[in-house]
Amino acid sequence: MPKGLLIVFTGNGKGKTTAALGMAVRAAGHGLKVCFIQFIKGGWHYGELDAVKRFEDLIDLHVMGKGFTWKSDNIEEDARLAREAWDFASTAIASGKYHTVVLDEFTYLLHYNMLEIEPCLDVLAARNPNQHVVITGRYAPEPLIAAADLVTEMQMIKHPLKSGIKAQKGIEF
Ligand code: ATP
Ligand code: MG
Repeated sequence: MPKGLLIVFTGNGKGKTTAALGMAVRAAGHGLKVCFIQFIKGGWHYGELDAVKRFEDLIDLHVMGKGFTWKSDNIEEDARLAREAWDFASTAIASGKYHTVVLDEFTYLLHYNMLEIEPCLDVLAARNPNQHVVITGRYAPEPLIAAADLVTEMQMIKHPLKSGIKAQKGIEF
């Protein structure tokens, strides 16, 4: 019997977001619909955003928090933005339209207590039983790991930044 999986890519090593993108492309290759939601936007222009647009008939891409990062000097505002972003994601999950929903960098909203975890887990548990959800980001909280079917921890063994090699186009962004 097929079963929608809750998949978590966490840990300090590189490869979480790119693993989720690989899964999105794999599903799209079968003509299956994917919703890819990126939660925290850094200053970089990530190449994958443009690449994914080429699959726009199959991969719906949404960047939450465009133009800002989550600022710690205004916790109330952060929490409000986090709730808005989560409302958007839960609507996508509950729509039942997607084979896979990716919540990229979502763990931070839970780790920094911008969202309560229990209501989030309730939404995940209530989804279509065949729908897969992929969550990425460091510091996946224990209750999320407990609820997941598949958890991979990327472990940093070496990273070029540690030898002074700066982030490069096509590799880091
Ligand atoms: P990627 O997007 O390359 O799959 P990631 O999603 O696993 O990486 P994040 O924690 O989201 O990694 O961090 C994003 C950026 O930080 C990437 O450019 C990545 O190369 C870089 N990075 C990841 N792990 C490390 C590390 N251990 N030290 C320094 N930089 C890192
Ligand atoms: Mg990432």
